[in-house]
Amino acid sequence: MSAAQPRPEPRTDWTRAEIAALFDLPFTELIFRAAGVHRAHHAPAEIQLCTLLSIKTGGCVEDCGYCAQSVFADAGVKATKLMDVREVLQSAARAKDAGSQRFCMGAAWRNPKDRDMPAIVEIVKGIAAMGMESCMTLGMLTPSQAGRLADAGLDYYNHNIDTSPERYSEVITTRTMDDRLETLCHVRSAGINVCSGGIVGMGETRADRVGFIHTLATLPRHPESVPVNALVPVRGTVLGNMLADTPLAKIDDIEFVRTVAVARITMPLSMVRLSAGRESMSDATQALCFLAGANSIFTGDTLLTAPNAGDDADAALMERLGMTPMQGEEPLAKINGAKTNGAKIDGRALAAAE
Ligand code: SF4
Repeated sequence: MSAAQPRPEPRTDWTRAEIAALFDLPFTELIFRAAGVHRAHHAPAEIQLCTLLSIKTGGCVEDCGYCAQSVFADAGVKATKLMDVREVLQSAARAKDAGSQRFCMGAAWRNPKDRDMPAIVEIVKGIAAMGMESCMTLGMLTPSQAGRLADAGLDYYNHNIDTSPERYSEVITTRTMDDRLETLCHVRSAGINVCSGGIVGMGETRADRVGFIHTLATLPRHPESVPVNALVPVRGTVLGNMLADTPLAKIDDIEFVRTVAVARITMPLSMVRLSAGRESMSDATQALCFLAGANSIFTGDTLLTAPNAGDDADAALMERLGMTPMQGEEPLAKINGAKTNGAKIDGRALAAAE
């Protein structure tokens, strides 16, 4: 990190007008500013590598319009039971061997049942014992479930806010944005790091993207990780059916990079993660995202049920860009003092792991 760069401190009092003004900047100016913020707080040539596993797929009673795992979707996803603990831990061990710093697990639930918690706790403990970071996304949590996950050693909990408060009910009707924020509050109170972001390209307006970033950037504390997804329209889902074959079906690359840059500027210490939709981005767009402050990716061939770029493509891209896997703890997690297992990881070059 360059000593000459300014180090803007995190603010949680952003106004929508300020965020809209960032989006409106000339592209080159926006990227220059975002890259400056990024370099002030993060090693600009390092990328955090995370692996995502679906530990319970499909059959979810929520009606998220983008999701193939909802019982309301007709996308051919077969519902499964919660995976066996041993199988999950074997997958985590393979991900660690391949250079992943964090093992993220998703279960297609509205919320975990208390009867599911012993197996979940066993998984979290097993991953902590490997010296690997863990992240789970299990739906809404009660304060006591968040406490049990924290006691087990869970490092991160993912709970996306998805979109702007105004657009929320057009995408999901079985829960509200307030339900989402309540779980984030329980996760914070339990001392677990927060991973929260959303999806762009769902046919929303620029104002919705402003509202989405504004909601995250004005939380009492910024999420430690902010995944920015580009919708992967899947036939059989509400949004996939609506957007397939329309010009709105894919977010404009420049607008996507703008969203990443604005997330970086408004949440300077957070990790900004390129998540779903990366497999259909050109290498040049991904490189622009990294320049604009994205510094985390999911590796592997699939993201829950959606396709992902794949390890070979990622290794080749990282090598071409001269980027290396991040090692050690994230800046915000370090400052917030929440325990993570990341500092114990010896990151290794993705290319070397091939
Ligand atoms: S996104 Fe999550 S909560 Fe929504 S339907 Fe899919 S699995 Fe369920």
